[in-house]
Amino acid sequence: MEFSAVDSEKFAVQEFRERCRNAGLALTHQREIIFRTVYEMRSHPTPEAIYERVREQLPSISLGTVYKNLKTFLDTGLLREVSPMHGSLRVDAITEDHHHVVCTQCRMVVDLGEEELEPVRLRVQLPDGFVLKRCVVEFYGLCPRCAAKPDKPR
Ligand SMILES: [Zn+2]
Ligand SMILES: [Zn+2]
Repeated sequence: MEFSAVDSEKFAVQEFRERCRNAGLALTHQREIIFRTVYEMRSHPTPEAIYERVREQLPSISLGTVYKNLKTFLDTGLLREVSPMHGSLRVDAITEDHHHVVCTQCRMVVDLGEEELEPVRLRVQLPDGFVLKRCVVEFYGLCPRCAAKPDKPR
């Protein structure tokens, strides 16, 4: 898995086209800009943060339209949701399996590759009929910035 900053515009556009083709999704200029924005942010952004960036290029776009497109991307597998349990939607451009380090204070999410962890295996039997799709490990802690702030209730 490649995590280095390959954020050349061309690369993002190629990736977008390929993912659309695989998902059977029509290529539109608007979708391309939204995808490229998420892809280049690499910060597991919220829809609101994505909207703020996208607006710089598409001033007339609404938050609702950004939401709708993100939903389509998530439904078709172009993007992934970070964790359904974080309360607010966070979007991930990396759709290969990987893990996360989460700051409990500012909610920063950093990627960890599969290879940066010992392989995770279940020792127990899952409830009957439970079909396992993927495994995400999340480490919780404080990012350097938050850890440096004194006297904050945690
Ligand atoms: Zn933090
Ligand atoms: Zn991630």
